[in-house]
Amino acid sequence: MQPYNFKCFKCSVCGSEFGFDDLLYTCPKCGNNVNIVFDYEKISEKLKSSGLGELSSMYRYLPLLPISQDIELPPIDVGMTPLIAPPFLRKHLDMPFLYLKDDGRNPTGSLKDRASSFIVSKAIHEKRPVITTASTGNAGAALAGMAAASGMKTVIFVPASAPEAKIAQLKVYGSDVRLVDGTYDDAFALCERTVEETKMYCRNTGTNPFTSEGKKTVSFEIAEQIAKSLMVPDDLSKHPMRAPDVMCVSVGDGNIITGVYKGFRDLHSLGLIDKMPRLIGCQSSGSDYIAKSFAKGIEDGSMEKISCSTICDSISACLPSDRVNAVKAVKETGGQYVVVEDDDVIDCIAEIGKYSGVFAEPAAACAYCGMKKAVSEGIIKKDEVIVVLITGTGLKDVKAAQKSVASK
Ligand SMILES: *Cc1c(COP(=O)(O)O)cnc(C)c1O
Ligand SMILES: [Zn+2]
Repeated sequence: MQPYNFKCFKCSVCGSEFGFDDLLYTCPKCGNNVNIVFDYEKISEKLKSSGLGELSSMYRYLPLLPISQDIELPPIDVGMTPLIAPPFLRKHLDMPFLYLKDDGRNPTGSLKDRASSFIVSKAIHEKRPVITTASTGNAGAALAGMAAASGMKTVIFVPASAPEAKIAQLKVYGSDVRLVDGTYDDAFALCERTVEETKMYCRNTGTNPFTSEGKKTVSFEIAEQIAKSLMVPDDLSKHPMRAPDVMCVSVGDGNIITGVYKGFRDLHSLGLIDKMPRLIGCQSSGSDYIAKSFAKGIEDGSMEKISCSTICDSISACLPSDRVNAVKAVKETGGQYVVVEDDDVIDCIAEIGKYSGVFAEPAAACAYCGMKKAVSEGIIKKDEVIVVLITGTGLKDVKAAQKSVASK
């Protein structure tokens, strides 16, 4: 059934609009990704009458999510991760308003839990008992874990080269794991083919329009947490949300940064924040498709697939599946893409840990590394309100952590 706040699906490239039952995944006309257009008046009314509620999970924001408002809430809470104001890291960098949003503290250890919990809720609601996805590791682990919690089955396509901990996690959660002798892009193609043949519900990042909708909840939390951190109580009751000046986000497929953008755009459209943060997309030089197409001004996703290889396995994508949205999101906020080297990312793992107590996997440290580069290039100023999104825990990739402290 169509969610109360749903207006239409809109194709990210050809702009065609579709009703709720007209498609499952991508645009029936051109095959590109679709986005959801909301009826913000309805959401405003609902927020006025019943507010956000008191849940301590991402479902606190249910009125802003495109799903039935009486879904059964999942048994494991996702989200409401801490926004850390790290005093010693701030001093070390001379950045007085730097924050780390530690999404590695989600149940399976990465931000992907937000999308996966949402997809599982949707699959249960629509009576689709088997869910599949391709993954570099974290999306799969998140789907497997959230599905296990709800008694659902999963089939996960993952490169055999993924870090051991991520593959172990999939198996522990009881997933049917298909190890692919190839890249993430190969796993993705295999998964898409399987979906055509079997009618499993497909969580694939980018092609399923609902993953970024789950991920956008991270922005809602940040807006509330920044307001609490920076505003005096009297003002807080009038303005319970506030956007940071800058969000630094690591980018592979481009779905997280798309979700981050959607979250803040929802709040802005509802008049709950007064500006959009500038989005800084951070990529490794070993996998920099989106940064390249941004630099070239290619917005329709037509740039050719590149070859990619990076120690930041979670952001290794040769033809990123949400490339169109990811380029537009950064452009619309007046942000930038920055590209960093793997060696610097590895050093950053130890630097973040030493000065803040936060343990990041390589792809998460990439956002911090990109933040430093953006400062050095004058893209962001040291005294701005800056949030670095820590997307996954360091325990996911112990080998990379050992590398980061090898000389110590
Ligand atoms: C998936 C992931 C990313 C990047 O998200 P995309 O949607 O692929 O851009 C970054 N960091 C971690 C830890 C991830 O798991
Ligand atoms: Zn289209």
